[in-house]
Amino acid sequence: MKQSKRKAKSTKTSIERRKVNKKSDQSEESRHRVNPHIITVTGEVRYSCLFTMASSTPVCSICDLRNITKPSIIWCFECDEGLCPECKDHHRLSKGTRNHNTVTISEYQKLPSEIVKITQNCAKHSEKFTIYCKKHECLCCGSCTVENHIECRDFDKLADIFQTTTFSNAFYEIEQSLADLSNNIQKIQNVRKDNLMRFAEKKRQIEQEIKQTRIAINTHLDKIQDDIMNKLNETVEKESKFINEQLELLKEKGSEITDYRKTIENIKQHATDLQTFIWMKELENEISSNDEFLQSVIDSTNFKDCELSYKTNAAMQNIANQMKNFGEVII
Ligand SMILES: [Zn+2]
Ligand SMILES: [Zn+2]
Ligand SMILES: [Zn+2]
Ligand SMILES: [Zn+2]
Repeated sequence: MKQSKRKAKSTKTSIERRKVNKKSDQSEESRHRVNPHIITVTGEVRYSCLFTMASSTPVCSICDLRNITKPSIIWCFECDEGLCPECKDHHRLSKGTRNHNTVTISEYQKLPSEIVKITQNCAKHSEKFTIYCKKHECLCCGSCTVENHIECRDFDKLADIFQTTTFSNAFYEIEQSLADLSNNIQKIQNVRKDNLMRFAEKKRQIEQEIKQTRIAINTHLDKIQDDIMNKLNETVEKESKFINEQLELLKEKGSEITDYRKTIENIKQHATDLQTFIWMKELENEISSNDEFLQSVIDSTNFKDCELSYKTNAAMQNIANQMKNFGEVII
């Protein structure tokens, strides 16, 4: 981002002036203490209505001292007070005040309150600032200089500073710096807003991704569930069919045996001894082969009892333990 070079090389005077203003920006209390608008009437301190904002018309301070309330028509920044037409004339002619800077009350009222608040007198001594101490970077009145800065040695007369300072240049520099600042703020705002918008867009994408992942997992779970169900059905069907076939075979053998037993009854009643003898020989063979068959059935692994069981994949059982979260949000 473009840094204001002007800011860096901003005239020393303008920087100094700003610092000076800061330093001279005394606390509200101290300003009040020395403000000429605080006047003593019959031993009590009362605050004059001149304290009000610049927008209301201040009364003439000099007349106010004599308990006469008259509206001001001019404002003297050096006396820091308003004057009525009569007092204005006196102020204009008097030796001590004839060079004072004055403005009409309407111009004074147009001034921003920040400017009106700047007092041009030292708060401690109520004297006008005349000196700038470079060491302490502060404004001094004559008394300040003598009392606190006599050792400082590095002074400028304010009158000299004002003569050599071109305010229009200083203002130009300040205005350019402000324009650069405002530009930079705009750029940063744009970058941040862009960031916000990207958040919203990315959030939408991530939500989509999470949903897609979920769909994929669901699809996969559905598939493996279907697989295991099919496998279960197939297994049970195959084994049941096998057992049913065996049952069918056993049923056949059973009815054969029943037939033999019926035949025995008939033979006992109706057959000759020879017939009985021949048939019994055949029957013995039959019984023996059926006996072998049954024995083979009993021995056969195919006829062993089977149990149907199921073993869950350990990964499936641990799914909740192993998958603690869906993912991670990273910034
Ligand atoms: Zn007056
Ligand atoms: Zn004056
Ligand atoms: Zn002073
Ligand atoms: Zn000093």
